[in-house]
Amino acid sequence: MKLLSISKLLLALLLASLTFGCGGGGGGGDGSSTGTSADPAPSTVNSLTSTQVYDILNNDFDRGYYPEEIVYRWETPIWVYTAGDPEFETAVQKFEALTGGLVTFQIVDTFEELQAHGYGIAASIGTAVDWDGSPHPGNVSYVPGSPNSLFGYLTTGELDGISYVNLGAEGVDDSTVGWFPSAVAEHELGHALLGGGSHIENFNGDEGISGELLALVDTYYSTPIGTPLSQIVPVLP
Ligand SMILES: [Zn+2]
Repeated sequence: MKLLSISKLLLALLLASLTFGCGGGGGGGDGSSTGTSADPAPSTVNSLTSTQVYDILNNDFDRGYYPEEIVYRWETPIWVYTAGDPEFETAVQKFEALTGGLVTFQIVDTFEELQAHGYGIAASIGTAVDWDGSPHPGNVSYVPGSPNSLFGYLTTGELDGISYVNLGAEGVDDSTVGWFPSAVAEHELGHALLGGGSHIENFNGDEGISGELLALVDTYYSTPIGTPLSQIVPVLP
């Protein structure tokens, strides 16, 4: 077991949550439930250039999340606590299926198990807040219920600590906001997998796992942790 102490964690500093308070409202969707009831297959992505991949990673670097221009991601299998949330469970299953084994999860039954492990991703239900503190469909944070998007990491590039996927808030049901019920959960889990807050076209807030998001996740998880960003080769789903 990896022994963790807070001194081992280098916390990425938050620069304003410029684009992290996502999941509805802004971006490509209008926040209304206009999508189909069935989960759509991700759109086909015909091209994702190394420049595009570099740009989104470098954007997180520029925003102060990370000190070096290398790939920061989770070791797999990624330990995850779903809190029994059906939308989050769907998101987990879809990422595992759609990445064809690149992203695998070790699901634990209780949050305490994840805490004892020390690092991974936890769903936190009803704690999503926008950057101004108002209720929100979804966001990712290093502390549950915080608008601040922080990621713990080791200098070698492994993401570390617990990343919280906050879903829903008082008066805001994340399952009714996106294009389909699990869309917001998929988007926020996408951020947690990528360890960053940047967006690209078709990875904006409430569209679920798009071809673009899947291509980014596939690219990250077929690239060794710590690889210099300049050496990343995009992988298309
Ligand atoms: Zn987002």
